[in-house]
Amino acid sequence: MSVKTGVVEPELGETRLCPEPWLHPAIRADGGVMRCCFGGLDFGIVGAESSFSQILNSDSARLSREQLLSGRLDEVCRMCPRFPIVKLEEYRSYIESMRRHAGALSGALTDAVVPISVWLEMTSQCNLRCVYCHQAGANWISDDLPPAAIDAVIQELILLGVKRVSLTGRGENTFMPGWEKYAERLLDAGVSVVIITNLARPITDHEARIFARMSNVGVSIDTVDRAVFKRVRTSDVRIVLENVVKIMATVRKQPNPDFRMGWTAVVSADVAPGFLDLAATAVALGVSRVEFQCLIGLGGEQNNRLATIDEMPIDVAVGVARAVRDAEQFLINKLGPDGVFVAAGLRTFIDKSMGAQPQEQSQSIWEVLAKDE
Ligand code: SF4
Repeated sequence: MSVKTGVVEPELGETRLCPEPWLHPAIRADGGVMRCCFGGLDFGIVGAESSFSQILNSDSARLSREQLLSGRLDEVCRMCPRFPIVKLEEYRSYIESMRRHAGALSGALTDAVVPISVWLEMTSQCNLRCVYCHQAGANWISDDLPPAAIDAVIQELILLGVKRVSLTGRGENTFMPGWEKYAERLLDAGVSVVIITNLARPITDHEARIFARMSNVGVSIDTVDRAVFKRVRTSDVRIVLENVVKIMATVRKQPNPDFRMGWTAVVSADVAPGFLDLAATAVALGVSRVEFQCLIGLGGEQNNRLATIDEMPIDVAVGVARAVRDAEQFLINKLGPDGVFVAAGLRTFIDKSMGAQPQEQSQSIWEVLAKDE
């Protein structure tokens, strides 16, 4: 299996500068509460026997925090591309300060604090079968969080004072009928809501108004070429673009100063030739930022999935790198340095293959979504 490239692993006495198991836990559609949206270690299952807040202080929740504090990381944390490596002493001071900031003046370092944001996957079903996605694999099993469990979790998040909920997951949350009423309840309670969505189903006016009240709408869109989109994303890109326009128009009618829309493209040889068109379309439609993310060799059947950049013939990989770099330069010119993000593994390859000077990285949408208010 291929994983993201360009990731250096921590050595003895080091760990990752990651606050996720305290500040940004994630709830899956099967009820599992994870330490972060990457998974790897469950804190417990929300349901009749345990509330979300009880699970935040479970033995395995404490264990996952202890792993980071001690540097005894499992493979997922070792290979994690999201957080830099730091010395253990530095990490301990960081966690002490983070806990004080969160209002935890006593207790063990492994104790829970009120999370700043929670990733809430209401369903792991999806309306698409993108060729590179785990959903395209034969063994993918989908779950829906039962309405009673969603109600209870949302109630608890509001009472706990969680500032932000990310309606994101391994599936498509907007595929769940009535998803917008849950988003509305959070928004009405003053919770900031962000989402990553494929927008591949025609949305209603009411859904457009809900999206327009969010602080960040991340749209998964790899290309604006109809034939390529159909082949790779198994849907009609015109629906996505029509929905984008509808949401942008709604934001004009009900102004929301916090609103941002970002687009995310998964980089493969199939879509790379269209990156400049993708970038130009994003700018034309008022999108704030475009991200180029690494393809991870997880999706689809092994014999038909797309090649990751380290698996491509070198001339193809260099062409892909050039396409990303050209789109990146265009976006920097039009939107400034925060208008584009290139994932670490791609960045490394581009800089090596193009002989370019390493560029300063802005934050990825995951980091933006996880950022403290
Ligand atoms: S996988 Fe990454 S984000 Fe998740 S807990 Fe480990 S270091 Fe943090």
